[in-house]
Amino acid sequence: MNMQPDTFEKAQKIFQHISEIFEEKQINPSPTNYLVWYSYFKGDKPKLRQELDLILQDPFGFSDRAGRRLYAEYLDEDQEQSDLDKLFKRLLDAMMKKLTAWTNKLETSTHQLDQYSQELSHNQLNQEELKNLTHSMITTTAQMRDHNQTFQKELMTALTEIQRLKRQLLEARAESMQDELTQLGNRKAFNLAIEELTTQEPAASLYLIMTDIDHFKSFNDRFGHLVGDSVLRYLANILKKERKINHTSCRYGGEEFAILIPNATTEQAKDHAETLRQELQKVHLKRKDTGEILPDITASFGIAQYRQYESIDEFIKRADDMLYRAKQQGRNRVVTEFDQDPG
Ligand code: GH3
Ligand code: MG
Ligand code: MG
Repeated sequence: MNMQPDTFEKAQKIFQHISEIFEEKQINPSPTNYLVWYSYFKGDKPKLRQELDLILQDPFGFSDRAGRRLYAEYLDEDQEQSDLDKLFKRLLDAMMKKLTAWTNKLETSTHQLDQYSQELSHNQLNQEELKNLTHSMITTTAQMRDHNQTFQKELMTALTEIQRLKRQLLEARAESMQDELTQLGNRKAFNLAIEELTTQEPAASLYLIMTDIDHFKSFNDRFGHLVGDSVLRYLANILKKERKINHTSCRYGGEEFAILIPNATTEQAKDHAETLRQELQKVHLKRKDTGEILPDITASFGIAQYRQYESIDEFIKRADDMLYRAKQQGRNRVVTEFDQDPG
């Protein structure tokens, strides 16, 4: 790693600053939150900084959940890798030791059997000697078989352990890429997917739909955060229900979602967004506690097509610009770059 070690004074200053902020904003002083804020002030991860700045502008502000998400997305990778490396290394070391011991035993036994067979071929043996030699050969062979069986068992145990570790790692990875609230892919999953899809050749028929719930702030203000959360889950379920096999649907952040559609036409991308828009509009949610019918929820959609060799940031920005235009044109609509600009 090429990370500069922090000077003690610098680290101390940052920690003091964090303690003050935590007290002021009543942030839980958990290790995860400390690490996230430490990186924020150190400034070594510009994207984390950008995202935390955005979160701070939000009236709900920083929460443990936001801390966990930022940690998983920007700070967790090295740790995860080295922990796994250590485990595999330990397991491999143990297996190598067993393999060496087994090879040594096999060598000794083979050597012994060689000696017995030489004795058999060169010497005139009497009845008693022949009986002893046969007994020795049988014992050595039985020992060899026992060693083999033990080694085979140990090898199987180690292999099972490796498989278990591998599954655990896959599960941990999947978990670190999933949004807790909606069970959709999170920003990290989105970043990985867009990186992969834009480097595939040809990536020209790749579309990005960005969507954002309309007037969600006032909805939250009126009905509370928990009801707001259930709306987010509801929209996420629509995204899941309508998702085609090659789509990647993620929670981009807050009340924004992103859908990547490869190998598609503009028409298909537009139709998909239009379906999502209509599905959301037609639901009439009811408050579980009071039975009150909630006002209609709508969302706006912006679509961009990937241009070969542009940066990912440019691609996202173009989809975002279309989303902004959809908001400006009155919300609850789908806007693409190919639509005629009315002015
Ligand atoms: P617009 O139509 O322009 O998008 O208006 P808006 O009010 O939706 O836009 P704004 O970006 O100002 O507000 C987004 C709101 O989404 C504010 C924020 O509190 C809310 N929000 C973000 N994340 C969550 C969440 O996890 N749960 C809930 N309930 N609300 C959230
Ligand atoms: Mg928004
Ligand atoms: Mg919104």
